[in-house]
Amino acid sequence: MSVVVQKYGGSSVADADRIRAVADHVARTRRGGREVAVVVSAMGKTTDALVRMAEDVSAKRPLREMDMLLSSGERISMALLCMALADLGVDARSFTGSQAGIITDTVHTKAKILEIRSDRIRAALDDGAVPVVAGFQGVSTDRDVTTLGRGGSDTTAVALAAALGASVCEIYTDVSGVYTADPRIVPAARKLARVSHEEMLEMAATGGRVLALRSVEFARNHGVPLEVRSSFTWEPGTIVEEEDPSMEQMIVTAITHDVSESKITVAGVPDRPGLAARLFRALADRAVNVDMIVQNTSLHGTTDISFTVPTADLEISIAVAESMIGALGATGVSADSDVARISVIGAGMKTHPGVTAQMFETLAALGINIEMISTSAIRISCLIRSSAAEEAVQALHTAFELG
Ligand code: ASP
Ligand code: MG
Repeated sequence: MSVVVQKYGGSSVADADRIRAVADHVARTRRGGREVAVVVSAMGKTTDALVRMAEDVSAKRPLREMDMLLSSGERISMALLCMALADLGVDARSFTGSQAGIITDTVHTKAKILEIRSDRIRAALDDGAVPVVAGFQGVSTDRDVTTLGRGGSDTTAVALAAALGASVCEIYTDVSGVYTADPRIVPAARKLARVSHEEMLEMAATGGRVLALRSVEFARNHGVPLEVRSSFTWEPGTIVEEEDPSMEQMIVTAITHDVSESKITVAGVPDRPGLAARLFRALADRAVNVDMIVQNTSLHGTTDISFTVPTADLEISIAVAESMIGALGATGVSADSDVARISVIGAGMKTHPGVTAQMFETLAALGINIEMISTSAIRISCLIRSSAAEEAVQALHTAFELG
């Protein structure tokens, strides 16, 4: 029998009515003759509320205890969903991440899945039951409860789908799929019928909020097809799958924007080999993910190094950079969080020149200054003032005829 993994996000299980609607959909899928394994997020904004509770109680908030606290949200939704399924006559069994055999490394609040020992989940399926697994959590090789980072339930679902050899991993959320741009900003944005793993990866990495980045990475690495769908309308969503080389590719598929990054500049760094390496090693040792980097040309033997980091990591990044001033012989560190990264993504740009020129021309026509640029084979990103982000996205969506 073909296995489908269905993941329901927080908004899909936000209250009793939503949980019953999800139970109904799971029951129908099961009766349609497919094996279903379910992964759930915490109800609504539960995880945010748990974070606030911790902030109210403690300034230190030891990460091991944060994981113990945050993992409780998903325990609530999994148990309630199983109860709703029981009312529909479906044999359902909830499993914590640990019970589901999700083994992670020991990095609390940002753990990575190392292995899934899926035998208990497999056994539940073999019994004809529906396993319901708590997303976003696992158990470390030190046997402590861990969480996978915010939005981590998507990763649980994809990893479980890979472990079970599922034919598809369906991600249910409150939007009906992946759009050419954020529809709240661009009313003319269109739902995409399909995108490649690579394009989705670039979108997730640059502010497309539909799927967590790590889940897409995992899906690509393990060849797991995803479908992003709405649990409110149940209409067909967006399929994310391996690129089909026989198909003509869209030059530009989507425009994304991200205001969650900040820019740090380390000024007056002597232009000598090894200094940038030391700075970025120090940041990496604190698990800071650096994104865009610009080093200006050396005047008088010194350069400025600017880079972006998630604003959530800004404080620690500034502290690291400042602690390196002496070792680097730099003159100072400054930070700026009023920035936005705007990205143009499309697999077809690999073979079509001119996308960069058109992007820059579109921004120039609006008088928008480009502060940093980074590219991959299928993406161009520009860092601009955050106040200009919305008009930039709208203009690029029109310029690349995505409406
Ligand atoms: N409940 C967790 C969060 O809010 C995990 C998830 O929703 O994927 O981040
Ligand atoms: Mg989520």
